[in-house]
Amino acid sequence: MRRPKRVLILASKLGYQTRGFAEAAAKLEIEMRFGTDRCHKLEDPWGDEALALQFEKPRDAAQEIAKAFSGGDAVSEKAIDAVIALGDRPTPTAAYAAEALGIAGNPPVAAENCRSKLRQREVLRAAGIRVPDFFSFAISDDLADVLTQAKFPCVVKPLSLSASQGVIRANDPDEFADAVRRIRLLMESPEIQVLREPERDRLLVETYIPGREVAVEGLIDRERLRVLAIFDKPDPLEGPYFEETIYVTPSRLPAETQKAIEECAGSAIGALGLTTGPVHAEFRVNESGPWMLEISPRPIGGLCSRALRFGPDGVSLEELLLRHALGIAGSDLEREEAASGVMMIPVPWSGIFEGVDGIGEAEKVAGVMEIRITARVHDYVAAWPDGSSYLGFIFSRADSPAGAEESLRAAHGKLRFRFSPRLPVEHPVSRKIGN
Ligand code: ADP
Repeated sequence: MRRPKRVLILASKLGYQTRGFAEAAAKLEIEMRFGTDRCHKLEDPWGDEALALQFEKPRDAAQEIAKAFSGGDAVSEKAIDAVIALGDRPTPTAAYAAEALGIAGNPPVAAENCRSKLRQREVLRAAGIRVPDFFSFAISDDLADVLTQAKFPCVVKPLSLSASQGVIRANDPDEFADAVRRIRLLMESPEIQVLREPERDRLLVETYIPGREVAVEGLIDRERLRVLAIFDKPDPLEGPYFEETIYVTPSRLPAETQKAIEECAGSAIGALGLTTGPVHAEFRVNESGPWMLEISPRPIGGLCSRALRFGPDGVSLEELLLRHALGIAGSDLEREEAASGVMMIPVPWSGIFEGVDGIGEAEKVAGVMEIRITARVHDYVAAWPDGSSYLGFIFSRADSPAGAEESLRAAHGKLRFRFSPRLPVEHPVSRKIGN
């Protein structure tokens, strides 16, 4: 008897994004397995029997996966047919695991090229792709020496965090020194230390690139990029911090600009060595053309994929990706005609989230499809640059991108978030960053 196809999803957080995959898998009658590096001390709190892994050691994690799942033959009870990484952290593990299991995946070196912001810049610059000028330094280096290399305005960032966490613009040496101090505190915080990121004592400095920003959602099929959507980011992202807000697709940029972005993304993928599966990329566009800010072999994060629907039946991105990963027909559907938008609800200030008023009114705004508040009441939420989680998401649909954007702004204007201050708590923070 043929066993059902089986997919391994790797994710740091098992939550709404993994649920999207679980729903699509149920529809396609695919079995899901999970691997995660969430706190291992808890005994399977989600009831998902997730394999406990350490994504910061991708080779070891891949060995664990191979041990757990290689049954030796294709009909084995244990065999896995595809591995999908959600979020940046598990992307190298997914590549090493695919290699170890002998199934389709990106070459590990390609995933490693993307995972470190510094390495990615080096590879792309060597390939002649337009990236900001950059240099890196150790947090312990003498700041006066570091400043001799800096040109302003610039952006200072850690090498491997995500969601714009710790990304800060500096316009002069004083702001640079403040940015370094602030990132150092963030990197020393228990929340980041627990991730045991490699190179967490190094920072990257880049020239600030002015211009419009877009996000590209793509799928690599047999080494060729297919762009699924280009999202405009209509709010100016000029710093000093770079929390995301509104994404709207289709893009309102001229067709030739969109083509240039697509070509740039294709060249970057080739240079980095990516060969298959989802990619999410960010670009800035100005009079020089598109600038590659970042690309990662994983789908768009959070709940944002709900802004994308494909084909006449509105197939989800998760279903499209599962079909692609498993070679099931139907992964070539095009995005629907309608304009679609999502707003990642910004965190106005750090504090204890106490709730939100006005949801009913906001839901009545024309074009609004759904509002999901994902922050948990009574939890502490940090604003950027320290934070990395949004309060929730608003989704809209309209005939035009301008209409989709307007609905998001109108709905957000009706929401009133309540916060209370967090009482100071002493953290036994280690002053040492290494190890
Ligand atoms: P992350 O992976 O944490 O999202 P990025 O390097 O993509 O980090 O930076 C996050 C955001 O910061 C970008 O989407 C962009 O808005 C802004 N940003 C980062 N680097 C630059 C740069 N060199 N010039 C202008 N803006 C930048």
